[in-house]
Amino acid sequence: MDPLGQDEIRASFVNCTRGEAKGVTLPARAAEIPWERREFLGWRDPKAPSRAYLVLPYGGEVVGLALRAAAPPKSRLRSNICGFCTTAHGLADITLFSGRRAGKLGREGNTLGIYACGNLACCQYLRGELKSDVPQPYETLTLEERVARLEANLHKFVARVLESR
Ligand SMILES: [Zn+2]
Repeated sequence: MDPLGQDEIRASFVNCTRGEAKGVTLPARAAEIPWERREFLGWRDPKAPSRAYLVLPYGGEVVGLALRAAAPPKSRLRSNICGFCTTAHGLADITLFSGRRAGKLGREGNTLGIYACGNLACCQYLRGELKSDVPQPYETLTLEERVARLEANLHKFVARVLESR
């Protein structure tokens, strides 16, 4: 993705109030982010780990989502596969993230959830920069094909969040 400035990141949030967007703790300094190897920016708020953020290019704009990281009872966990990058994880490393939907549906209290890498480091898992603790299902996809799948999964999620915007 193209590098983003802090103001662009703050202005990108579509499913929280302006006040909430103002309070977002931004990720590492832009200069430290290897943008060319990232399809999206995903991070947990170091001051409030139950808050998570996802910022990505989408349909010619930059879209930011504010998410809540839930700690579901392990016994009720339904998936250990990341819904974005499909990396398999041990139960401690997968998290249910939920976000308010934008627009009318959000005002009615409608949210969407997805199980994903708990650290939102999908782009790193995809490239082998980080390794999951558990064995991965055998696949013959190229990195390019995995990136395309990650983007398709991200876009599907964003499209549903934005549905009633
Ligand atoms: Zn992932």
